[in-house]
Amino acid sequence: MQVSVDRDRCCSSGMCVMNVPEVFDQDDRDSLVRLRQTDIRPDQVADVRLAAELCPGGAITVTEDEPADG
Ligand code: SF4
Repeated sequence: MQVSVDRDRCCSSGMCVMNVPEVFDQDDRDSLVRLRQTDIRPDQVADVRLAAELCPGGAITVTEDEPADG
């Protein structure tokens, strides 16, 4: 799974950083979200999905990996 963020939609609430600090961070200068990683490990999937659901700005997008052929 991949995660991406739209900094134009981020309102700096910091909820994602509190919930999944290993994935999300806030910029020291403008407090907008930054990603620490874009590839999400299986053990992080549930937390990242929840962070996307709870984001008040709708700034977090999760994308499923393409299924392997075969
Ligand atoms: S939860 Fe959403 S609005 Fe809040 S800091 Fe994270 S990306 Fe920005």
